[in-house]
Amino acid sequence: MLYKDCIEELTGLEDFIVTDVKNVYGEIHIYGRMAKRIHGCPRCGTKTSNVHDYREQIVKDVSGFGQRTYLHLRKRRHVCPNCKKRFYETTNFLSRYQRMTKRLICSILEEFHTVQSMKQIGKRCNISASTVARVFDFVAYGTPVLPKVLSIDEFRGNAEGEKYQCILTDPKDKRVLDILPNRKAEDLYRYFSGFPERKDVCYVSMDMSTLFRSVVKRSFPRAKIVVDRFHLVRNVCWALERVRKEEQKKFGPDRRKYFKRSKALLLKHYEALTEEQMQQLALLLSASERIRRAYFALQDFYQLMEEPDRYHAKRHLAAWLMRVESYDLPEFHACTVSIRDWLEEILNTFDVPYSNGFTEGTNNKIKVLKRVSYGVRNFSRFRSRILTMMSD
Ligand SMILES: [Zn+2]
Repeated sequence: MLYKDCIEELTGLEDFIVTDVKNVYGEIHIYGRMAKRIHGCPRCGTKTSNVHDYREQIVKDVSGFGQRTYLHLRKRRHVCPNCKKRFYETTNFLSRYQRMTKRLICSILEEFHTVQSMKQIGKRCNISASTVARVFDFVAYGTPVLPKVLSIDEFRGNAEGEKYQCILTDPKDKRVLDILPNRKAEDLYRYFSGFPERKDVCYVSMDMSTLFRSVVKRSFPRAKIVVDRFHLVRNVCWALERVRKEEQKKFGPDRRKYFKRSKALLLKHYEALTEEQMQQLALLLSASERIRRAYFALQDFYQLMEEPDRYHAKRHLAAWLMRVESYDLPEFHACTVSIRDWLEEILNTFDVPYSNGFTEGTNNKIKVLKRVSYGVRNFSRFRSRILTMMSD
């Protein structure tokens, strides 16, 4: 008897009276009924506790000690003394449509905060992957409220026939706001038109994508665009890489040794080099005037990024462009052209600290999610999964 009292206490299910507990083939079966209560007839409202008959309902519950757990609820069917309507008693721990307890559903949804496949979640919760999917499909996220600062980016999600999806985040509070099904300008514009608060958006951080720039200019009339620093610097790194590769081709096998691990060497900040690396660098730079110039261009750009404000950055950038354009390095052409094209947006990064850093981190988690779940088919489920995974 003491044992049963204990179980009652431990099940933590309100008004559930345990009558028996069995352990069958490693499964826990808990039998019981609800404490007797007076119910109102759903048709006429007459109060009654008259029982017509019983029915056993079997419900899955959270696993106890790693064993599948089932509740066998002896459910009363009442009959109304006034209108004769028959109806089942209510329980507050069961969800209406699932044959599971509410707390089992909560524990399944809790698992979605970490990156794992539905199969893995099913294993942890002792239910099938298809049940996990069915439960998760009840999760629905509405549209967010747009904050004053936004970050927009794309990622390769391959969901429902669209190669790219867009991600919208709040870089200030580090929250994912929404995932959009594609990156078509018209669809993005239509989406943003639905937000009256878009007129209050002050900054939008992004990489140097002309598509996003035109959408943002149209959708957020007061917003300033901020180019993400990482993407900006990467453009210059890529230009230097192109020079290095071209030069490397020109060298005979005897001098190839100069280029050993030269990619990392050239991209590293000069101040961070070891004594040995400095010697290797000196050798490499003396061997190729073109690499020497490209190297100087990148190192100077690193320093430019450290300028304290917009005013100094503007002067430094003008000097940098003049010098690099005079170098006669065709590999830098695309880079300098796009920097001139994005001048204003680049200078905005010296006014505010916003970047795509949080967005990039999220994109990496999405990559892992795609890998563990072997791709994505259904976009809306994919969107819910990302939003759940990234929520607290
Ligand atoms: Zn009635």
